[in-house]
Formats: sequence, structure tokens, C-alpha cells
Amino acid sequence: MKVQILTQCELCEGKAHLPVGEAETWNGEKYTRYQPCPMCQGSGNQAKWIPLEELVTAIQAVAAPLVVDPHAVMNAINAQVV
Ligand SMILES: [Zn+2]
Repeated sequence: MKVQILTQCELCEGKAHLPVGEAETWNGEKYTRYQPCPMCQGSGNQAKWIPLEELVTAIQAVAAPLVVDPHAVMNAINAQVV
């Protein structure tokens, strides 16, 4: 059984934009140009299918035995079941 989670985009590392090069303003100041990340379409998130056991292992790695709120657990591993 597999579950789909949203995780940080690997290409842009969750920043949602990628630098595409340098440009100059009208007065000669250099700045970095960005474009929306093509992998995550500028969302910063990436949907990923992982085995359920892997999700359980990830939750167990961060969850103390007393944590019973699944939302807190999901926030802790930066993932959402969708
Ligand atoms: Zn991205």
C-alpha cells in the first residue's frame, strides 16, 4: 500500500523559484532573475508516493509516544497526506 505525501520540492528545495541568471537594471545594478520552478510549478511542494511503512517509520522517528494529534505529527515531518 502506498500513500501520497506532499514533500519539499527537491529541485528548488521548497523555495518555489530558481535563479535563471543575472540581469541589470537601467542604472547598471546587477540582480538575480528567478523563474517559477518547473518541477513543482512554483508551489515549492512535490507530491510523492511512498510505501505506507516508510511513512509510519518517518512518523515514529519524530513522534514521542505521547503525541496523539496526527496533525502535529504531519507538521513535524513537513508532509501532508493528500
Ligand atoms: Zn520546485
